[in-house]
This record gives sequence, C-alpha cells and structure tokens, in this order.
Amino acid sequence: MAAKHIILLGPPGAGKGTQAKRLEEARGMVQLSTGDMLREAKSSGTEMGKRVAAVMERGELVTDEIVIGLIEEKLAQPRPERFGGFIFDGFPRTLKQADALGELMVRKGQSLHAVIEMQVDDAALVARITGRFTCGNCGAVYHDVTKPTKVEGTCDVCGGHDMKRRADDTEQALKTRLMEYYKKTSPLIGYYYAKGNLCAVDGLAEMGAVAADISKVLDRP
Ligand code: AMP
Repeated sequence: MAAKHIILLGPPGAGKGTQAKRLEEARGMVQLSTGDMLREAKSSGTEMGKRVAAVMERGELVTDEIVIGLIEEKLAQPRPERFGGFIFDGFPRTLKQADALGELMVRKGQSLHAVIEMQVDDAALVARITGRFTCGNCGAVYHDVTKPTKVEGTCDVCGGHDMKRRADDTEQALKTRLMEYYKKTSPLIGYYYAKGNLCAVDGLAEMGAVAADISKVLDRP
C-alpha cells in the first residue's frame, strides 16, 4: 500500500500526539513532532536546544528556520521497512512553514493525503492540558482528573515511576500557546481548505472515535 502523509492540525491539547502514537502502531506511520524534536534538543543540551528553551517555556513559537531545518533533516532519513507515511504533528504552525513543507514534498515527488483539523473547544483545552502528565519511561499519557494512574505515581503500562509534566503545561504558558495558535497557526485552516485537502474531526469525542474518524480519512483513495 502506498504511504500516505497527513498533517494533524489543532490547538495545544487537541490530542494530536495521542492520535499520532495510535497511527504509528496501527499503520506503521512515522510521527514527526517538532515539539518532541525541540524538547529532545533541549534535554540533550545542544546549542540549538539551549537557544529555544526559554521561548518554549513561555509558550511562544521558535523560528521558522529552526523547525523547517528539523523537518528537512527527518525527511532525509531512511524510512522503516513497513512505512505507512508521515504524520506531521505540530508542524507546520505558520504560513511560511506550510509553504516550506509544500516545496519539500514537491521536491521529493510526494504529496499530502489530507490535513486533518482536530476541532476542540477552548475551555476544554485548558482543563485537558493543565492536568496532563506522562510516563518518562514509556511515554504513556495520563491526566489528574480524566485518566489518573491506577496506583499513584506508577505507570499502568510499564510500571515506571518517573512521571513528568511539561514545563509549558501551565495556565500562563497555555494562554500564550493558544494566542500563538490563533494568531499564527489557525490561518492554515483556510490555507489548506483553499488547497482542497482539509477535513475536520471532532477532537473532543472519545479517543477511539477520533481514531476511527481519522482512519476513515486515511482509507479514502
Ligand atoms: P508541541 O509539543 O507541539 O506543543 O510544541 C511545544 C513547543 O515547541 C511550542 O509551544 C513551540 O514553542 C515549539 N514548537 C513546536 N513546533 C513548532 C513549530 N512548528 N513552529 C514553531 N515552534 C514550534
């Protein structure tokens, strides 16, 4: 089956990362999360990581040049044997990034199958994000109210005890992240609508239902 590349578009907390992980498992797709790449650079202490740390912590966007460079690098890497396509998660976030991605795809003779807008309500986002934590060992995602661990401080999946909260999952940083989304990223909804490959799913539906909606889009020719 031919690889299909998609963009998951939506504000912070819309569930892009969760759905991307499911698609990796179910379809052999590869998640390209610029947020994850930047956090990795930050924690391994690279020069670039040090430069972006404060910007990320405030919830602002890092420069287009940096994230476009990261994506370009990833696209040049060898693909796994069973390759279902790329899931762009948290990229593009500006019109300049969207143009750059379009050019990169053309250069590689590829195209986007769909841009999936994950629609959510702002009040729900704040509640979702401010309670979020993950297992530092296996990456399982939890929430203080809606999905606590069965045993406090212990991961249900791997038994790890290293629970982590993102430095930018605070109410103040979230306000900035939302503002950045509406000012710089939401114009991409119109951009991809005009290009003809936008579809919307209800991001507030139950996780399995969201996954089923995304699958329907992917199963389309
Ligand atoms: P995320 O994990 O996607 O929520 O990203 C976390 C943070 O990384 C964002 O708040 C930005 O500071 C930065 N970031 C991630 N992706 C991008 C991007 N495509 N453009 C600019 N900044 C980004």
